[in-house]
Amino acid sequence: MNPLSAGNSQSKQQLRLNWPDGREHLLDHAELRRQCPCSQCRAFRLRGMTPMVDARVRVVELNPQGYGLQLVFSDGHERGIYPWAYLAEL
Ligand SMILES: [Zn+2]
Repeated sequence: MNPLSAGNSQSKQQLRLNWPDGREHLLDHAELRRQCPCSQCRAFRLRGMTPMVDARVRVVELNPQGYGLQLVFSDGHERGIYPWAYLAEL
């Protein structure tokens, strides 16, 4: 399921997804950064560690990739491509 629209608010530090079932989904930027699905961050979490994330981290760019969104964070991290299904479950 792909969202009808995706928006980003840097002031609220939230990513907004609107799903076809009418649900509006707000995702906190710092939480998205912690749940980054790139191989590096996944390996980190598998070792039981939580990536060090500054609570003030922002999503500065959304790059739609067809099957999901690549998010660019204000701390320079840009390796995570978040599939729609993954975002839907966060
Ligand atoms: Zn990552």
